[in-house]
Amino acid sequence: MRRVVCPGSFDPVTNGHLDIIGRTSRLYDEVVVAVLINVEKRSLFTVDERIEMLQAVTKEYGNVRVEKFHGLLVDFCRQQGIPAIVKGLRAVSDFDYELQMAQLNYRMSGVETLFMSTNPEYSFLSSSRLKEIARYGGDVSGLVPDLVRQLLVERLRG
Ligand code: ADP
Repeated sequence: MRRVVCPGSFDPVTNGHLDIIGRTSRLYDEVVVAVLINVEKRSLFTVDERIEMLQAVTKEYGNVRVEKFHGLLVDFCRQQGIPAIVKGLRAVSDFDYELQMAQLNYRMSGVETLFMSTNPEYSFLSSSRLKEIARYGGDVSGLVPDLVRQLLVERLRG
C-alpha cells in the first residue's frame, strides 16, 4: 500500500488544497489528510469542523482519509506507517521555509517530502487571505467548494 500524507491547518480547506489532494490521490493508494491541532493559533473553525468539511469535499476521491494530529508530523507518520509527505508549493516564498522543514524532517526520521507545484489558478490563494476576503464581504465562490463558502459566510456573519 503506497500511502502519503498531506498536512496543514485547513482553516478552512480551499480549492488550492483540494487541487493538491486530488492530484496526489491519483498517484498513491491512500492519501491521509492530517489536520494540525495547534492550540496557540486562533482558528475560525474547530479541528472537528475542519475535518467534517474535508471529509465531505474529498469523499469523491475514494482513497482519502482525514485525521488530526498534534506534535511532530514525523511522529504521526511513524505511527501511521507513512513514508512521505506531499506539500503544495505556491511561490518561491513558500520554498525557503518548506525546504528547511523537508530537510529537518528527513534528518529526524527519514520521512521524505515531495513538492507538487500549485495549479496557477490557485497560486495566490491561502486560507488566511480567503478569510480576509470573506470577512469584508468579498465573493469567494470559485476559491472554495460551495459547502465551505456557505459555512464561511455563516461563521463570519456571527
Ligand atoms: P494555508 O493557511 O496557507 O492555506 P495550510 O497549512 O492549510 O496553509 O496548507 C497546507 C498545505 O497546503 C501546505 O503544503 C500549503 O503549501 C498547501 N497549500 C495551501 N494553499 C495552497 C494553494 N493555493 N495551492 C497549492 N498548495 C496550497
